[in-house]
Amino acid sequence: MPGPELLDELRAVVGPSHLLVDADLVAGYAVDWTGRFCGATPAVVRPGTTDEVADVLAACRRHGAALTPQGGNTGLVGGGVPLHGEVVLSLRRLDELGAVDPVAGQVTAGAGVILAEVQRAAAAAGWAYGIDMASRDSATVGGTVATNAGGLRVLRYGDTRAQLLGVEAVLGTGAVVSHLGGLLKDNTGYHLPSLLCGSEGTLGVVTAARLRLVPPAAARVVALVAFDEVAPAIRAAGRLRRDLPPLDAAEFFLADGLALVREVTGAAAPFEADHAAYLLVEAAAAADPTDALGAAVASLDGVADVAVAAGTRRAAELWRYREAHTEAIHTLGPPHKLDVTLPQDELARFVADVPGAVAARAPNARCWLFGHAADGNVHVNVTGVPVDDDAVDDAVLTLAAARGGSISAEHGIGVAKRRWLAANRSPAELETFAGLKRALDPDGVLNPHVLLPGPLPARP
Ligand SMILES: Cc1cc2nc3c(=O)[nH]c(=O)nc-3n(C[C@H](O)[C@H](O)[C@H](O)COP(=O)(O)OP(=O)(O)OC[C@H]3O[C@@H](n4cnc5c(N)ncnc54)[C@H](O)[C@@H]3O)c2cc1C
Repeated sequence: MPGPELLDELRAVVGPSHLLVDADLVAGYAVDWTGRFCGATPAVVRPGTTDEVADVLAACRRHGAALTPQGGNTGLVGGGVPLHGEVVLSLRRLDELGAVDPVAGQVTAGAGVILAEVQRAAAAAGWAYGIDMASRDSATVGGTVATNAGGLRVLRYGDTRAQLLGVEAVLGTGAVVSHLGGLLKDNTGYHLPSLLCGSEGTLGVVTAARLRLVPPAAARVVALVAFDEVAPAIRAAGRLRRDLPPLDAAEFFLADGLALVREVTGAAAPFEADHAAYLLVEAAAAADPTDALGAAVASLDGVADVAVAAGTRRAAELWRYREAHTEAIHTLGPPHKLDVTLPQDELARFVADVPGAVAARAPNARCWLFGHAADGNVHVNVTGVPVDDDAVDDAVLTLAAARGGSISAEHGIGVAKRRWLAANRSPAELETFAGLKRALDPDGVLNPHVLLPGPLPARP
C-alpha cells in the first residue's frame, strides 16, 4: 500500500485534479468490463503528457509501488485492473490525434485516443484504419497496441502489430523511447514496436503510436449465410478466403447465440426457419463485389439460406446479430471469456467437442461459441460458473493447446490465462520472456501480476 509521500509526489506531477483517491471516483477503474475481475486501488493517476508518465513511473519505482496501465478498460483478461492493490495509471488524457499524412497514409495517435476516432479521422482524410471491433467506442490506441488487438478485419489487414510503424513509450527502466518517423523500410536494429505490441503493459507504457492506414473500399456487400450443420459453416470460412479475394470479414455464430441476441436486443429473425450455424460475410472492393460474393457463396457446401443486405441499414442489422453476442452474453452474469485459435483444419472438430469438455467440468454451465472463423479464432464464452472457478478455463485452454491451437488468439494473457502460458510456450521461451522483463522493467513495477506465470522477476 503506497504511503502518503508517494501520493503527494504523484499529485505534484499531475496536479490535484488528476490524482483520484476518493473511493467513488476510483471504483470504476478497479473492475473490468466483464465484471469477472474486481480489485481495489489506493489511487488513479491521470498524466497528461509523456513526461508526466515518466515522472509517475519514476516516483513509483522510488517507492516500490506497482502500476497498472489502463486505457479504455475493455480488456477481457483482467490485465488492466488493479487486482493486487496497484496504482492505476490511466492513459486516457493522452488523447492527441495528429493530422493524417494524406500521401503516406499514416497518423500518429496518443495512447488515449479512442479507436473509433482514428477510424473517423482516417475516413475524413480519404483513408481507412485496418483495425475494427465491437469495443471501438471505448478501446484506446494504447490498449490496442498493448494487447495487439485483432478484431473483424484481421484476415484482410492483419492485427494491430501489422499496422504499427512506430511507438513512443516509457519503459520500466524509465527510458523514454520514441520512433515515430513512419518509414516503411527501416532495418536499424531491434523492432521495439513489435516487442511492446502485445506486452500488455508489462515492459513499458505506450504513450503514442504511428499507425499505417489502408485504402478505403468504395463498395461493400454484407451477407448472412445459414447452414443446417456447424462444420460446413466453419469450412466455408476457409473456402471463402481462397475463392472471394475481396473478403473483408467472415464471422460465425450458432443457433443458441442468435436466439440470445434476439431475446436481448428484440431483433427480428433473419430467416423464416432456424438454422444450426451462421456465417456473416463481408466483401469490399473498388467495384461492387456483390456478384463475386454471390458466386462464391453459391459454390459452398451445405448452405441452407442466404440474406444479402441491400443497403447500409440492412448491413448494420446483419452485423448486429454477430456484434451483439458479447453484450447479450454479459446479461447472464460475468462470463469466462476464453478466446482461442485453432489450426484451420481443427476448428470444426474443436467447436464440436468443446461443449462436452466444458460440461464434463461444469454440468450446469452454458457454453457460447462465436468468432472470427476465417482466422481459426473462436470465442468460447462460458456462463453459469463462479468467477473464481477456473476448471472450465482449464478444460477449454488445454483442449485448444492439445489440438495445436493458441490459448489466446487476440485478447492476450492478462491474469486470466497466465497459469496456462506454458501450454503454448517452451521453458526456453518463458525464460527469454522473463529476461526481457528483467531488462526493461528491472524493479517489476509494471503490471507485475500480468502475462508471465510464476514468481516475479528477481530484482537485480
Ligand atoms: C464488446 C467487446 C468486443 C471486443 N472485441 C474484440 C475483438 O474483436 N478483438 C480484440 O482483439 N479484442 C476485443 N475486445 C477486447 C478489448 O477491446 C481489446 O483488448 C482492446 O485492445 C483493449 O483496449 P483498452 O484501451 O480498453 O485497454 P485496457 O482494457 O485498458 O487494457 C488492456 C491491457 O493493456 C494494458 N494497457 C492499456 N493501455 C496501455 C498503454 N498505454 N501502455 C501499456 N499498456 C497498456 C493494460 O494494462 C492491460 O493489460 C473486445 C472487448 C469488448 C468489451
